[in-house]
Amino acid sequence: MCNREQKITKEKQKFPAIFLDRDGTLIEDVGYIKEPSAVSFFPNTFADLIRLQEHFMLFIITNQSGIGNNLLTDKEVKIVNSYIETELKKQGITITATYYCPHTTEDNCFCKKPSPYFINQAVHEYNIDRKHSYIIGDHPSDSECGIRAGLTPVYVLTGHGNKHKNELTCEVAICKSLSHATERILNNIYYDNKII
Ligand SMILES: [Mg+2]
Ligand SMILES: [Zn+2]
Repeated sequence: MCNREQKITKEKQKFPAIFLDRDGTLIEDVGYIKEPSAVSFFPNTFADLIRLQEHFMLFIITNQSGIGNNLLTDKEVKIVNSYIETELKKQGITITATYYCPHTTEDNCFCKKPSPYFINQAVHEYNIDRKHSYIIGDHPSDSECGIRAGLTPVYVLTGHGNKHKNELTCEVAICKSLSHATERILNNIYYDNKII
């Protein structure tokens, strides 16, 4: 195989992905979630993710500063994350990986959103195509994280979205909900990721 062919084959293996925030985007943001019984999926989360996964690999990235603040344990967060993955799996939805930052802002860690650390990790681990990937979240730090990682951000007004929308620091598509975001992403998938 000549070099050019190798290059083309390699490029073909890149996958577009959607990086999803957890609280306020997939489930109700009810503060620090210590146990699965406190998880409440938005009514359309399952249907939306089923549609999105036809075109994208799905990841969850969540800031869980409650751990660093001693309001949650690492184990509680792991159990809740795994419950969410399991509930989604029952609907036929695969979350390729869930990443969480356990730190507080004061910790000055390398992984808390808006740091693109976890996206970069997934890009390397799963050969993600940044140019055709998105981040969806209800906080300006989600959008900023996406911009820093070279993805297209989509801001949702569920969770804390409405409250923080004036703090957005970058140009971003604003959607009422995950359903609206799904609609817009899928409608524009063939237009080189410009959300219009
Ligand atoms: Mg959130
Ligand atoms: Zn961190």
